[in-house]
Amino acid sequence: MADPKAFDLTIIGSGPGGYVAAIRAAQLGLKTALVEKLSALGGTCLHVGCIPTKALLHSAEVLDTARGAARYGITTGEVKLDLAGVHKHKTSVVRRLAKGVEFLMKKNAITVVNGHGRLQGPGRVEVTAAGEKKETLASRNVLLAAGSVAKLLPGMKVDGARLITSTEALSLEFVPQTMLILGAGAVGMEFASIYSSFGSKVTVVEMLPRVLPVEDDDISAEMRKAFRKRGIAVKVDTRVTDVKMVDKGVEVAVEEAGGGRETLQADVLLVAVGRRPLSDDLGLKGTKVELDRGYVKVDGMMRTGEPTVYAIGDLVPTPALAHLASHEGIVAVEAIAGLNPHPINYDQVPNATYSEPEVASIGLSERVAKERGHKVKVGRFPFAAISKAGISGAQEGFVKLVGDERYDELLGVHIIGPKATELIAEGALALRLESTVEELFHAVHAHPTLSEAMGEAALNLHARGIHF
Ligand SMILES: Cc1cc2nc3c(=O)[nH]c(=O)nc-3n(C[C@H](O)[C@H](O)[C@H](O)COP(=O)(O)OP(=O)(O)OC[C@H]3O[C@@H](n4cnc5c(N)ncnc54)[C@H](O)[C@@H]3O)c2cc1C
Repeated sequence: MADPKAFDLTIIGSGPGGYVAAIRAAQLGLKTALVEKLSALGGTCLHVGCIPTKALLHSAEVLDTARGAARYGITTGEVKLDLAGVHKHKTSVVRRLAKGVEFLMKKNAITVVNGHGRLQGPGRVEVTAAGEKKETLASRNVLLAAGSVAKLLPGMKVDGARLITSTEALSLEFVPQTMLILGAGAVGMEFASIYSSFGSKVTVVEMLPRVLPVEDDDISAEMRKAFRKRGIAVKVDTRVTDVKMVDKGVEVAVEEAGGGRETLQADVLLVAVGRRPLSDDLGLKGTKVELDRGYVKVDGMMRTGEPTVYAIGDLVPTPALAHLASHEGIVAVEAIAGLNPHPINYDQVPNATYSEPEVASIGLSERVAKERGHKVKVGRFPFAAISKAGISGAQEGFVKLVGDERYDELLGVHIIGPKATELIAEGALALRLESTVEELFHAVHAHPTLSEAMGEAALNLHARGIHF
């Protein structure tokens, strides 16, 4: 066995959790190793998650804009999808960003070790590289950031053409005539949006009673309406009972909550029913690291049951979001370095779905606020009454604010419509600063901007609306 190399911290996994934690550790003077089993750094988010989906969504948006250009006095030639060109753009963005992560590791003097990392007793990580070549790293602390993979339903097998997950959906070399998507969470809704723009006839099937189930009820209802308008079929309260692969694609038997049954046919079935944490091959057996349905259990400092072993990101039972993984990584590293970081307030983590229309939210939904005993007041404002939305022809949707009547505390911000995923930043800051609703309308919003909808929704919560 090679001589153990010694580190203050070894991080397993280079996703947005792991690589950001590595940089923070280096800033704090910890000698840090980053172990990654794949040849490129950046994890799910960069290679098969956030970034490539948003590249496809951007191409879909450009396509839709070009198709509707005449409305703005612009004449185009024939507008066509060039799928190879779409993938070329996506790949070049991913490659450039992966190089950026590599550069950041070098800049911060982080040792990158290529191979599969496993805990090997206290203070040791065994790394198995290609060709079964093994080396052992000695490490005072270990941060598990191994992430997750797409989940399938029992009996399902990905074949890459008829039955796929989000990973394959990112690089299909054809546009299916018909696509069935299981799961109406952010991932399912984003792909429904992409492939509908590309020309597929899309049907989304969701077991729960509404699409985007983590969002406020009103947002889910508006989203369903918007998809219907786009010609995307949505079946909620519907579960899959059987999947059959046939020559021309798939046949999926479904059952509605009311008992109705039918068989749906499609060229491609995209399964987007969630993610499974990658905890099974990290050498956790025999350690004090506890698992709950495969997720690693942690405290507010992201510490596992094993002293000196921490875990973050998709591996732990908190929402599977890149920005959250990064924040959890920073908390873990600061705790390791002996600082006293603020534990994360999970009520203040934004959700974002980059479909057309976009959806974003932070804080409590109206329903959850009521369940928690707040005296709830709601203010809404439609983008149809915002001049900037009229200029760009994106007038669907609204901003909904949830507040507490007693102290005017802002509890939640929910947006569906143009640039929702950018506008939510104001909500994130307002919640972080424990803003009242009133402060939101005292803040001057530039005119004409989409952000005016925030100030107007706040005015409406106080029954003082100007434009609606
Ligand atoms: C299609 C899709 C779209 C998404 N879009 C968004 C979005 O827009 N915004 C958002 O916030 N989130 C999005 N997500 C979720 C986001 O990608 C994840 O929450 C995030 O990547 C989790 O980060 P992580 O660091 O925990 O793990 P990951 O990004 O999964 O990284 C884990 C890394 O660890 C490596 N690894 C695993 N096991 C080992 C081992 N034993 N040894 C060495 N290396 C190992 C893996 O190869 C991987 O590189 C999306 C996910 C998907 C699938």
